[in-house]
Amino acid sequence: MAKKDKKVLIRIENLKKYFPIKKSSVFQKELLYVRANDDITLDIYEGETLGLVGESGCGKSTLGRTLLQLYDQTDGRTIYYGYDIDELAPRYVMEILESLGEKYKELGELKEKEETAFKAYESKPDGDEKYQALERYRAAEKEYRTLFLDLSQIVGGLLVAENLDSVSKTLLKEYQVSVEAVKLRKLINEENVILDGIKSQLEEKGKTASEIEKDTENDVNKITAYEENLRKIEGELSSIQNEIDGLRNRYKDHSDFEKYEKHRDKGINLAKLTVEEMRFLRKDLQLIFQDPYSSLNPRLTVGQIISEGLYAHRVFAKTDKNITDYILDTMDSCGLAPYFVHRYPHQFSGGQRQRIGIARSVALQPNFIVCDEAVSALDVSIQSQIINLLLDLKEKENLTYLFISHDLSVIKYISDRVGVMYLGNIVELAATAELYSHPMHPYTEALLSAIPTTDVTEDKKEIYILEGDVPSPIKPPSGCKFHTRCKYATEICTKVVPAWEEARPGHFVACHHKLNGKED
Ligand code: SF4
Repeated sequence: MAKKDKKVLIRIENLKKYFPIKKSSVFQKELLYVRANDDITLDIYEGETLGLVGESGCGKSTLGRTLLQLYDQTDGRTIYYGYDIDELAPRYVMEILESLGEKYKELGELKEKEETAFKAYESKPDGDEKYQALERYRAAEKEYRTLFLDLSQIVGGLLVAENLDSVSKTLLKEYQVSVEAVKLRKLINEENVILDGIKSQLEEKGKTASEIEKDTENDVNKITAYEENLRKIEGELSSIQNEIDGLRNRYKDHSDFEKYEKHRDKGINLAKLTVEEMRFLRKDLQLIFQDPYSSLNPRLTVGQIISEGLYAHRVFAKTDKNITDYILDTMDSCGLAPYFVHRYPHQFSGGQRQRIGIARSVALQPNFIVCDEAVSALDVSIQSQIINLLLDLKEKENLTYLFISHDLSVIKYISDRVGVMYLGNIVELAATAELYSHPMHPYTEALLSAIPTTDVTEDKKEIYILEGDVPSPIKPPSGCKFHTRCKYATEICTKVVPAWEEARPGHFVACHHKLNGKED
């Protein structure tokens, strides 16, 4: 896929996840944190498998869970493009629109702060003070950029519009109406699910829709009531839609709004959603766990395990008999025989249980799945079957994976691109073949040199043994976190955090002394 054809599904910017640690005594002044994810920036493209590799404890599982918002994100943005912001109408957009004037002023102040910090950095002579000034400038630049991105995502080209005030008022009005429309649409969906359930229950009893009308009066009344209610809600929705169209028509010719529409980013910042809003998107964003033994409820049958999510997300009503066929189809696509439907998890092998876990996730028709060490607990012979199943499903359902593993061979086999993590940071990211043949970060080089090989034709490669333990994520080393174990480290590495840069097209790395990459 050429770079320009790729569509970003999830954009992660400066993501941080810190876990606070309880104070060990009342005299301890400083609150300490485990810095599990520290300033991670990357794009995940639609339809790709992005592998994430690193030693245990490097923060890869935390990243998978944080971007799914299973952990609260400490800082940064996680923008999801699989759902339209207008369809969700999240509350945070309203908050930004309401305080647009103040935010715009704050943006100007942060810009000034950034420029001052840059001048201070430039004026310092080489040495420690310059390093510190650089860190201060980077912090100021990040603060400005974060607010700029937050605002520009919502109001897009309005940041360059002259008449910001009047335009933002109209936008706010439109947004308030849109929020109402979204509520009604949700209600219509829910009513439809219930209605389908009642109809399917009646059809199950052997009655067609026309027979139903003549038949049980109670059932007919129930359906009529739901249908009437639906018509009423649809009527309300259409008058709201007219109101929105009216507002839009009023500003259609306004040049500022043209800029607004053109520069508008319709992604949803998952980190800013309310619990309720995130619950709605949960269906789209799934997780497959490492341990197929503990991730399945032992008291539920396979059918119940798969149906739980379908009911919770109102894909089916409790009364809808069509769910059985749907579950059997999903099981079939995951290589599970239909007669397994009434069995319990303990009656299955590890590989089969992992298939059940996968079926539970894909039944919801997600866009994106985090596979967290999804094959690590399985026998090697079973691993390849599960990997092939995941690849088949990805192809069929157009899924996108974040595949987390400590196993470099598994990652190489399944991934289109690979990110390498060390102590909470992604230190290198590139297309799989590029990364494995031309590593540019010393840590990647060390990891790759340690992969055992059975290929006798391969030249004896130099094995780079990683010395020392992984430092503590509570007080990580200053500058480049890898400097305590890196054989190429120099003074600057101990003082300045290396910038995350695109060293070659699509090949990102954070290192002051990038390796050129060995030729094949
Ligand atoms: S920045 Fe320095 S210490 Fe860090 S990986 Fe690069 S060479 Fe090694």
